[in-house]
Amino acid sequence: MKAEILCVGTELLLGDTINTNAAFAAKELAKLGITVYHQSVVGDNPGRLKESLAEAFSRADIVLMTGGLGPTYDDLTKETVAEFFGRKMYMDEPSLAAIEAFFNKVGRPMTDNNRKQALMPEGAVIFANKNGTAPGLAVGNDEKIAILLPGPPNEMEPMMKNSVVPFLKGKTNTVIVSRTIHIIGLGESYVESILRDYMLAHTNPTIAPYAKTGEVQLRVTASAKNDEEAYALIDPVVAEVAEKFKDYVYGIDVGTLENAAITLLREKGLSAATAESCTGGMVSARLTAIAGASEVFGCGVCTYSNEMKMQLLGVREETLAAHGAVSPETALEMAKGVRKLSGADFGISITGIAGPGGGTAEKPVGLVYIAVDSEKYTKTEKLLLSRGRENERTMIRTLAANNALRLLIEAVTKY
Ligand code: AMP
Ligand code: MG
Repeated sequence: MKAEILCVGTELLLGDTINTNAAFAAKELAKLGITVYHQSVVGDNPGRLKESLAEAFSRADIVLMTGGLGPTYDDLTKETVAEFFGRKMYMDEPSLAAIEAFFNKVGRPMTDNNRKQALMPEGAVIFANKNGTAPGLAVGNDEKIAILLPGPPNEMEPMMKNSVVPFLKGKTNTVIVSRTIHIIGLGESYVESILRDYMLAHTNPTIAPYAKTGEVQLRVTASAKNDEEAYALIDPVVAEVAEKFKDYVYGIDVGTLENAAITLLREKGLSAATAESCTGGMVSARLTAIAGASEVFGCGVCTYSNEMKMQLLGVREETLAAHGAVSPETALEMAKGVRKLSGADFGISITGIAGPGGGTAEKPVGLVYIAVDSEKYTKTEKLLLSRGRENERTMIRTLAANNALRLLIEAVTKY
């Protein structure tokens, strides 16, 4: 079964809104084994929308659309689709009642144009919207189905997962399933060079590398009749590939580094605290972005000046005088200091030169020291993170934070 994604909204064409709906829908369709060969965007213009719809249906069985279901005059997706399938519009009473209930709940008056959102093409399957006013819907005939979802991602995403996926599941007989191997510390080209022949030799599952900042992910994907058969194809390949890069693999399907760190700490019933200088709290921000971080993370301090490193973390004046703030000695005292301050099992620290100025021949921009301290495992690492490019400050700070999280994961794993 082939699908196309057609997103409606002039704001998308202007670049004011990033088209996250297409990415989200594409992933969900892929998991269902539904092939997507084209995605497109069209503005809020009925003539061009009609053209795009006809073009999409000339190639695909399903056209999944987002946007243009709002109450205003330029929201015309439903009307255009109804016309395409030759359906009349009717007032759907349950949808109208749901919209009224939504306005009651949020305590805002319902205006007359909101009633328009309950107008539906005859024969449509309606998807209730628990997070907004515009219901979604599916409408079509034996060969073609249009699926219409609201534009706001906080409405579109749950509707896709909770209503559209079950709706489409009844119509396909394959699944596509992936596992992701997370690698840090190796470049994408190196990983690919090691795996090239292995990747070419495999067609189901396929193996594909994706580079992220300072990380490489290998996605292993299989298609099969059901999840069980797909995982039976994937799992031996995942084990083999993970073994090839074992010192650099920080997890399978673990999401981000911070997610992996929090999960691991939670599993082991351990806690961490951070002391950051050049990253200014990036590690603690990333850790606390994970729901439930409070179980394993009690304290992050940002000690940017030498005075604060001494006052809050107990870094010794002699250490700073003899080795400087960017040194393995200071990094270690920061990690030990924050562990003591917080009572956490692990203290993590970062101190470095993010640039663009401030580097010397001896201590260049991009020199960063990270340290972890715990009762059983203490380690300091030197990182050289500059790649000689312009505007590297953000990159150096991000890579420093990534490596600190990686060191935390390593320490917790070995603990
Ligand atoms: P609409 O359903 O057309 O009224 O869309 C309402 C809002 O949803 C827009 O103003 C955008 O902020 C957002 N939106 C619409 N389409 C997309 C999309 N494809 N990706 C992300 N956000 C979107
Ligand atoms: Mg719109």
